[in-house]
Amino acid sequence: MTTPLSKTLCRIHADRPAAARCPTCGVFYCAECITEHDGRLTCAACLAAERNQVTAARQRERRLAVWPALQLLIGLALLWLMWQGVAHLLLSIPADFHDGTVWK
Ligand SMILES: [Zn+2]
Ligand SMILES: [Zn+2]
Repeated sequence: MTTPLSKTLCRIHADRPAAARCPTCGVFYCAECITEHDGRLTCAACLAAERNQVTAARQRERRLAVWPALQLLIGLALLWLMWQGVAHLLLSIPADFHDGTVWK
């Protein structure tokens, strides 16, 4: 036996008759509480939950997309540090080291 829609009240507004039932959670809501999203009816709570899931998924994707760029940056930073080390090593060699070699 199903409850007639006209006698069912909105979950949020107890004084308003239900207009539709959310297919996701199965709760009755009035026309104000239920919205159409992507061609189907959804209550505000389910819509918010769906949006949170989408946002979380997008954030995961973003993190995955950022990681290779970060690795590249770390690699370049290490390379630069190594280069700096080599440059310091070359500068630390005394100038008279080359006396009597190729340049004379
Ligand atoms: Zn719902
Ligand atoms: Zn309502």
